[in-house]
Amino acid sequence: MSLVFNEEQVMWQDTVQAFMEKQVGREYTREHDASREFPWEVYRKMGELGWLGLLLPEEDGGAAADPIMFAIFCEAIAKYSLDTAACIMTSMFTATNISAHGSPVQKEKYLAPFLRGERTFSIAMTEPQSGSDAAAARTKATLDGSEWVLNGSKTFCSGAHIPGTAIVLLARTGEERYKGLSLFILPNDAPGLTITKLNTIVRRSLGTTQLYLDNVRLPKDNLLGEVGEGWKYIGEHLEHERLSLAASYVGNAQTALDDTVRYTKDRQAFGRSISEFQVIKHRMVDGAIALEAARLLTYSAAAKMARGERAVKEVSMAKVFAADALFKISFDGMQALGGYAQLPEQDMERYFREAKHAMVGGGTNEIQRSIIAKEMGL
Ligand SMILES: Cc1cc2nc3c(=O)[nH]c(=O)nc-3n(C[C@H](O)[C@H](O)[C@H](O)COP(=O)(O)OP(=O)(O)OC[C@H]3O[C@@H](n4cnc5c(N)ncnc54)[C@H](O)[C@@H]3O)c2cc1C
Repeated sequence: MSLVFNEEQVMWQDTVQAFMEKQVGREYTREHDASREFPWEVYRKMGELGWLGLLLPEEDGGAAADPIMFAIFCEAIAKYSLDTAACIMTSMFTATNISAHGSPVQKEKYLAPFLRGERTFSIAMTEPQSGSDAAAARTKATLDGSEWVLNGSKTFCSGAHIPGTAIVLLARTGEERYKGLSLFILPNDAPGLTITKLNTIVRRSLGTTQLYLDNVRLPKDNLLGEVGEGWKYIGEHLEHERLSLAASYVGNAQTALDDTVRYTKDRQAFGRSISEFQVIKHRMVDGAIALEAARLLTYSAAAKMARGERAVKEVSMAKVFAADALFKISFDGMQALGGYAQLPEQDMERYFREAKHAMVGGGTNEIQRSIIAKEMGL
């Protein structure tokens, strides 16, 4: 695969990059990381531009972007922070579940305000005792007359506390491991639901939370799609999700590498720029090689998806490799910036924190390798 974008793709890349430079920028990103506030201005603006609906079909008000255009978008929006990208992407993915399986009433109620940038979504799969093994979820939903009654707890539910958020929650409606799971749309102000914020070192502006469900009663209509199909629905967007993560890591790694190059050229020690020391130079070169390879894997997977082919193995390969590349580049950046790397105003410590999370979020590196192994017939 040759990474030569066509005219439309180049224009799109320039447009999103310019948006990130002018409408978002370093300062804004840094401030929101420190304040842990959701970047509403960016989110609303993206809604106005119609970008939140990139993954949705046109009949639901979306733009039905192909995977290459989508990867270009993700790479650009993660320029300064994976957290900013997650603030946008978490809602975009969850919206695809509502678009694919929601009733006309659910679509009107939830998708329309989302597309305007006025509503966010969260996805609640992980539970305190089941993360990688998400299908072992124990949170229970029982039908009682015309209502579902939900009991249990979820953890690391990102963005659930944001006012007006609708949580798409995976709960057990039967005993079978996969066919016993269903999806529900849970408004975050439902009586019986308690949301506690977690003090994570990453995802600071999106925020991540613990949910406690104590006899939460939901109207029957808050079931998303069919009973017992929840696991299948979640799986439907996984290729896009992993592609978006890989592209985001590439975008953030590029900034981390550029920042390292700029800093080491400026910084003087022993009468010369520290970029002239071979050990530092070679680390940056190794970072550039890893980044180039990560970008090629990512767009190669995107191209395969754009051709309508199955790309489960390829997106997992891209995600693992790009996460490792981002980690290496930001780790070496931390060393190259010396003591100044420890200061938030240099941004490197943020890239480094988030790089560590890249190896865990959206399926850990070990789980991605297990997926690749399965695809290889191992
Ligand atoms: C900041 C943050 C935001 C998050 N946001 C969300 C969200 O919005 N919604 C949501 O549902 N979840 C979310 N998560 C949860 C995330 O998806 C899980 O943390 C992740 O899937 C790993 O689960 P775990 O933390 O329980 O680790 P575990 O599953 O307990 O894994 C621990 C270690 O064991 C390894 N391991 C587990 N199984 C295997 C295996 N079969 N083979 C080899 N190694 C294995 C893992 O790779 C890992 O290294 C978030 C997490 C964080 C930290």
